[in-house]
Amino acid sequence: MAEIGKDIHKAAELLKRGKLVAIPTETVYGLAANAFNPEAVLNVFEAKERPHFDPLIVHSSTAQWVKQHVAETSPMAQILMDEFWPGPLTLVLPKKPIVPDVVTSGLDSVAVRVPSHPMTQDLLRMLDFPLAAPSANPFGYVSPTTAQHVQDQLGDKIDYILDGGPTTVGLESTIIGFEEGKPVVFRLGGLSIDVIEEVIGKVELSLNQSSDPKAPGMLKSHYAPGKPLYFGNPGEMITDFEGKRIGFLGFMTRLEFLPPKQQLILSPHGDLHEAAVNLFAFMREFEKFPVDLILAEKLPDIGLGRAINDRLRRASVIP
Ligand code: AMP
Ligand code: MG
Repeated sequence: MAEIGKDIHKAAELLKRGKLVAIPTETVYGLAANAFNPEAVLNVFEAKERPHFDPLIVHSSTAQWVKQHVAETSPMAQILMDEFWPGPLTLVLPKKPIVPDVVTSGLDSVAVRVPSHPMTQDLLRMLDFPLAAPSANPFGYVSPTTAQHVQDQLGDKIDYILDGGPTTVGLESTIIGFEEGKPVVFRLGGLSIDVIEEVIGKVELSLNQSSDPKAPGMLKSHYAPGKPLYFGNPGEMITDFEGKRIGFLGFMTRLEFLPPKQQLILSPHGDLHEAAVNLFAFMREFEKFPVDLILAEKLPDIGLGRAINDRLRRASVIP
């Protein structure tokens, strides 16, 4: 098993030696390696069993640092950096040659982000290289939002888990790229689209491409828990599952016709931020519940609700 601790010096030493360290971010826990060390980055793919066509996000402590490895920053990208970094927004920009091909899966663009988690900020400032870090879970599975989630699934494959507590956003970053100068959303995430649109105006969505994805979060089936999950209207779906033990993942209220111990409610007060924080931990909890399957209710399709619905749809048996 990996050691879990709060020692950023130890984490920094391991990363300098090309080892893998799980790091807390505000979105989800990442599995980090020196982005400039291709061998270390290859080990990230191996530990996650992630296909090599699926590029990684490169994390730096400041926008200044990011600019050392991107070839150009458009005025609109600059506005987004100024407004939303550090925070749950990833930008896809043309890369400099210093970024190894293994990080970008051979693309000439690189996904970059400045995370806001204080512990990871301190760690990044101790390093003279950025960290390539996808979510710290086996490929295709639910992302980890606590150090223990990482331990449960990747503990035997990594050296150290830096414990920064439960993540405060709970969803992966929103990914924005540019096509012919126009901003395009590749993945919905922890920064909601309406907040982005208030700053740069209307943005196009380019989600849901199932082959040759620009972003793996675009794969139709992803983020899946260990039990079959069905997404939609529970009242309509329930008739299909007679004789099965049903788990219910609801937004605000329980279903009367199911035992309370088979149900988890994301936010009794109807707070979408709270729902996002709880989402992945609750999906994992159903694995220990005496249920055969999970019915997940659709949330209001606004703000963070859009990203939560996106994850539930992709986690479901029939995406
Ligand atoms: P994960 O770290 O597992 O949340 O996934 C990283 C996300 O960043 C994936 O959806 C990647 O495909 C996306 N990404 C990384 N590099 C690029 C790139 N050059 N172009 C488009 N998307 C990218
Ligand atoms: Mg992931």
